[in-house]
Amino acid sequence: MSNIKHIDKIITILTKELNENRNPILSRKKWKDINRTPFTTLISCILSLRTKDEITEEASIRLLNKHDTPQKIIKISENKIRELIYPVGFYKTKSRRIKEISKKLIEKYNGSVPNDFNELLKLKGVGRKTANIVMVYGFNKKYYLPIDTHCHRIPNRIGWIKTKKPEETEKELIKIMPKKYWNDFNKIFVKFGQLICSPVSPFCTKCPIEKYCKKINIKTHR
Ligand code: SF4
Repeated sequence: MSNIKHIDKIITILTKELNENRNPILSRKKWKDINRTPFTTLISCILSLRTKDEITEEASIRLLNKHDTPQKIIKISENKIRELIYPVGFYKTKSRRIKEISKKLIEKYNGSVPNDFNELLKLKGVGRKTANIVMVYGFNKKYYLPIDTHCHRIPNRIGWIKTKKPEETEKELIKIMPKKYWNDFNKIFVKFGQLICSPVSPFCTKCPIEKYCKKINIKTHR
């Protein structure tokens, strides 16, 4: 039987436990140095792919505190973007993408990020995770489910689902998770994954939801 029935308890416990701890990348305090808009959310999300949170945060601040619109981005060279975002993963490809996306937004969307999930997916380099993040954090829209590595890994460990890819996880969770949790799910599970249910050797002995977790595929833990 699916363990999703404990979701009420799990979400309540995690919300309470994690409340005082640091926030994930898009809502941390340093983010206040940057004008938070759908565009800065989009660019920060692109920077975050295959990159550690701390590195993403610093790179986002270096790039976006002075270049927080597509119009400002197209005025700087691709090399300058590279310099500012290094050492994020795939920084050369990302510099090119950021420039291409900025141009496209100006040419096709009047210089704004489209407030439409399917239009976002048309931007080169924007997948479902990024589009969902922009809808939730950029436009404050309800009923989108961004699935990053933490949101994919943890429900599989708990035993809610059995999926191999984040896209499958999104589909499965949409089927089984009550809609009232969609909005907070990403925020809570990213934070939980950063602090306790880490990718390698999670802190199961201090995990507040241990009794609800089947610990699927956990080989070593602390
Ligand atoms: S018990 Fe361990 S594997 Fe399960 S959610 Fe907690 S930290 Fe993660």
